[in-house]
Amino acid sequence: MIDPALESLLAEARTAHANTPELAKFCAFPQDLTDTPVSPYSIPAARLMEHDNILQGAEISRFAKASIAAGPVVHWRETYKDTDIGQEFLGRFGCYCLIGPNGAYHSKQMLAFVVYMPPGLYYPWHHHPAEEMYLVLAGEAEFRREGEAPQTLGVGQTSFHASDQPHAMETHDQPILAYVIWRNNFGIKPVLTDRKVPSA
Ligand code: ZN
Repeated sequence: MIDPALESLLAEARTAHANTPELAKFCAFPQDLTDTPVSPYSIPAARLMEHDNILQGAEISRFAKASIAAGPVVHWRETYKDTDIGQEFLGRFGCYCLIGPNGAYHSKQMLAFVVYMPPGLYYPWHHHPAEEMYLVLAGEAEFRREGEAPQTLGVGQTSFHASDQPHAMETHDQPILAYVIWRNNFGIKPVLTDRKVPSA
């Protein structure tokens, strides 16, 4: 039995794919979804998201609200736990899977995540073989992509990352809440890019 909060979130994601040309073009919403019960697992960022004053005080979309509402019933990820990324990042960066590993839903076509970062957090350069699309649901962040000028993206804007293209992200006075999808080669985890790559 899938938690109603996740059913609602899935419905919002489906609507977003239908209504956002960049998402629709990147990957049609999967037709092959299966579901499995989730074992909830919390990390410190879950509480930061739940109690984020800026998100709570802002007018946010139904998709953003559903992403926050699902926080207590999802399995939060610890993708960078065994790296040298540092305690500051591990204690504040949040990501959970909606479609994919430890998520409620599974597809052979794509993975879908929700990413949350509080204000004033730097997500260092990283890359992965999967192609990636971010859709900003609330707040904003500065997106950096190797070979491109940095760009501050807000609600409704998207960022595409090609296969193995290093990218980084930084929040300043706003948090960011984003819907993130992967296609192709999505079984391989992100790795931190050689630290010699661009400094901020
Ligand atoms: Zn990425």
